Amino acid sequence: MNAVLQSHSPSATAREFLARRHRLFIGGQWVDPAEKADIEVFDPATEERLATVPRGGPKDIDRAVAAARKAFEGEWSKINSHDRSKLLFRLADLIDANMNLAVELEVLDNGMPRMVAHYSIAKFGADYIRYYGGWCTKILGETIPVSPQDAPNGESLTYTRREPIGVVGAIIPWNAPMIMAILKIAPALAAGCTVVLKPAELTPLTALLLGDLIRQAGIPDGVVNIVPGYGHDAGAALAAHDGVDKVAFTGSTEVGKKILLAAAGNLKRVTLELGGKSPFVVFPDADLGRVIPGAARGAFFLQGQNCMASTRLFIHEDVFEKVTRGIAQLASSFRLGPGLAQDSDLGPLISGEQRERVMGYIDAGRKSGAELLCGGDAPPGKGHFVRPTLFARTSMDMKIAREEIFGPVLCAQSFSDSDLKAVAAEANRTIYGLSGSVWTRDISTAHRMVNLIDSGQVSINCHAAVDPAIPFGGNRQSGWGREFGREGLDPYLKTKATTVMF
Ligand code: NAP
Ligand code: MG
Repeated sequence: MNAVLQSHSPSATAREFLARRHRLFIGGQWVDPAEKADIEVFDPATEERLATVPRGGPKDIDRAVAAARKAFEGEWSKINSHDRSKLLFRLADLIDANMNLAVELEVLDNGMPRMVAHYSIAKFGADYIRYYGGWCTKILGETIPVSPQDAPNGESLTYTRREPIGVVGAIIPWNAPMIMAILKIAPALAAGCTVVLKPAELTPLTALLLGDLIRQAGIPDGVVNIVPGYGHDAGAALAAHDGVDKVAFTGSTEVGKKILLAAAGNLKRVTLELGGKSPFVVFPDADLGRVIPGAARGAFFLQGQNCMASTRLFIHEDVFEKVTRGIAQLASSFRLGPGLAQDSDLGPLISGEQRERVMGYIDAGRKSGAELLCGGDAPPGKGHFVRPTLFARTSMDMKIAREEIFGPVLCAQSFSDSDLKAVAAEANRTIYGLSGSVWTRDISTAHRMVNLIDSGQVSINCHAAVDPAIPFGGNRQSGWGREFGREGLDPYLKTKATTVMF
């Protein structure tokens, strides 16, 4: 049974930040919203109020888009790629210098354990910005050999250049708030775009800290604008805005479809990083000493509120009992607690509503006849905690195996088939295709399964390897486009072709 740890208290620096009169970040200034309205921000571990932030609406989005346009056409367009790169490196250094505060705010706002916040903000915050800072000076066009019929002397030159797409609307979820903001801002700025960011209403704090750091870094006014607000209001206004050239969205598949419809008005470009229900396939020859912790980490990282989570285990029947018992034992040893408590392995879910949703799925799992091997309940007391839960003997006809739960609920089903196509067909039986992994020592089985699984990422003997340089994104209803790596820059660029006839 999981131990449940006690409450935590923020540092004086974090308390000072929380107590501030927060405002919107538009045109390089902290400003009040057009209509006075607030969002109350809560700590999911204690359910106590942490801060009050302004709630931006459509009029504020208008102002922010105008500021982003002015910067895009003005000062930002005059800054050369070397200087853009230096500004991004400066921002990364400022994140490192303010790491303790960033980590603490992230933990308080989202609930994730301190270690997870630290690792993610360092690697996918600061280092990710540096990775894209390096790209600023390497955005290249091509020269293309062509033979135009009508060149007077039969000679010509055709070349392309890559130009920034313009003003980007970025809309992000609450599961890794600071990282999500940076995943959008870094490639956009590297490409020469400007940004209006709408953070998730549940977790606006680190985005506001980022506003401070962007200003301190000397990034020109209006290049990044930050407007906390509600999705149906500020978010919808941003997605539909005629002054926005591209929307970069991360969130649910359901809202992703709304973004697409809203974007149709001016045919703005859209990239979508959406939900997942990723398979984790274990063959009998796999190294079970790695499989068991790999499966538990893959599924329960960020309390399972993780788009690439390994939520569906497909385990060969010869090792099914051993693997599922091993995962249940390990998951039961995880300590639940507030992220700032030193020994917490898992934090709370983001909200009471999310906990209810997850408990509804656990209830459905029980009723469907799946075998509950661990967890299955929410500990009493304050905080939106749910114990890590493993259901065995699930099948792809069950709701818990088909739908994205976005909580610490793992489904395990066995296979006996040696026909890899049949195994992969089960693994592919969802609307999603984000991540996935194959565990075996047989190099042919591994690569054949990689060919057969329809996901943007399929790893071998690890799950969801993430690095700023590895392209990441979904197939099917897990999304459109890729983030990370060189491919992550493409959606922020457009190609111009020029031909000169001599
Ligand atoms: P969500 O409900 O889709 O919300 C995401 C963002 O969209 C929030 O900022 C939300 O605002 C906003 N929004 C809601 N309705 C909108 C509308 N009509 N127009 C414009 N914006 C709108 O997702 P979530 O519950 O925050 O996050 C969980 C989901 O994100 C999961 O499905 C997960 O798989 C996915 N996710 C995907 C990735 C990936 O890289 N593929 C990464 C992380 C998470 P509010 O804050 O007001 O709701
Ligand atoms: Mg919060």
